[in-house]
Amino acid sequence: MNIETIAIQAGRDQDPETGAVMPPIHLSSTFVRGNAGDYIYSRSDSPNRRALEECLTALEAGGADACTFGSGMAAVASVFQALKAGDHVILPDDTYFGVRKLVSELLGKWGLTHTMVDMTDLEAVSAAMQANTTLVWAETPSNPMLKVTDVAAVAEIAHARGAKLGVDATWCSPLLQQTLKLGADYVVHSTTKYLGGHSDLTGGVVVTRTVDDDWTDIREQQEFGGAVPSGFDCWLLLRGIRTLPYRMRGHCDNAMKVAQFLEQHPAVATVHYPGLASHPQHAVAAKQMQGFGGMLSVQVKGGAEAADRVAGKTEIFWRATSLGGVESLIEHRAPVEGEGTKTPMDLLRVSVGLEHPDDLIADFEQALS
Ligand SMILES: *Cc1c(COP(=O)(O)O)cnc(C)c1O
Repeated sequence: MNIETIAIQAGRDQDPETGAVMPPIHLSSTFVRGNAGDYIYSRSDSPNRRALEECLTALEAGGADACTFGSGMAAVASVFQALKAGDHVILPDDTYFGVRKLVSELLGKWGLTHTMVDMTDLEAVSAAMQANTTLVWAETPSNPMLKVTDVAAVAEIAHARGAKLGVDATWCSPLLQQTLKLGADYVVHSTTKYLGGHSDLTGGVVVTRTVDDDWTDIREQQEFGGAVPSGFDCWLLLRGIRTLPYRMRGHCDNAMKVAQFLEQHPAVATVHYPGLASHPQHAVAAKQMQGFGGMLSVQVKGGAEAADRVAGKTEIFWRATSLGGVESLIEHRAPVEGEGTKTPMDLLRVSVGLEHPDDLIADFEQALS
């Protein structure tokens, strides 16, 4: 089946009691023993979550199973918490700042060691591999510089040394990159973003290529770590996923138009968008992505002050963090990331939504003038 059909049909059942076409929301925390679904307690499994995990497994090409969580960070944490004290991990030096904090501060205390490298530099990745490296972590496109990692090449480096590769592909969703088919062992999405698509829930998922002992550990992190999504959130997320393929097409089309407009604007210094020929990893992006996404960053002339002024002047692009919703958002990123950030002070991160592209361009036109 094609992806549009999978997005609508996977995890779908007619309600046997009522014939309802859309699933009921199950809020019950517990279930009477001997029920048809073998449900016991909703931290372990629940009807809306099972349907959601079925859909997410089907949607991710090459996926064998999926674990959903109450946030993207809980999904990321489950992968790292399944490692052992003394293990070494390699991370991108521009990884999502929550992941940086989790690995360097929280899990450092538990004996996890790490090295941060530029993931677009394959020699640096190879050089950072140690005998105890069990996981290489990548994020592509990266946040907020939109650096693109060659997933197949990094998978080869990790696997040659007996390590696994986990990829945070939140900015692609399962639609724009077949991350597991490229060789990753796990793909993680913050479902808060494109998968949910409407900025009305937080969630996360890990999808695995193989069901093995490591996967059992991640499944146990879900059950005993307990950061599980509610029945209502699972229902909302599944509802959002039904339109994902069409939404992603709109995000990609609009972002390309906005990127092209910004690139030729005299008040703009640089546009970071993998779809532009000027992007340093455009060739890798064109090879491994089925679309270039709805996220872009723009560096404006005039430094931090100019960036702040533009973000304050846009009217359709609301000034807020997060991304992947139907509505367009803009954020002056460096101040949000705080001390130690490598993000340039003149950078605005933009989530291009599904409004008409001409209106989005007109909004930037007036804000930059
Ligand atoms: C938002 C985001 C996360 C964290 O997800 P939450 O749902 O906010 O916990 C992780 N990685 C990337 C790339 C993100 O954009």
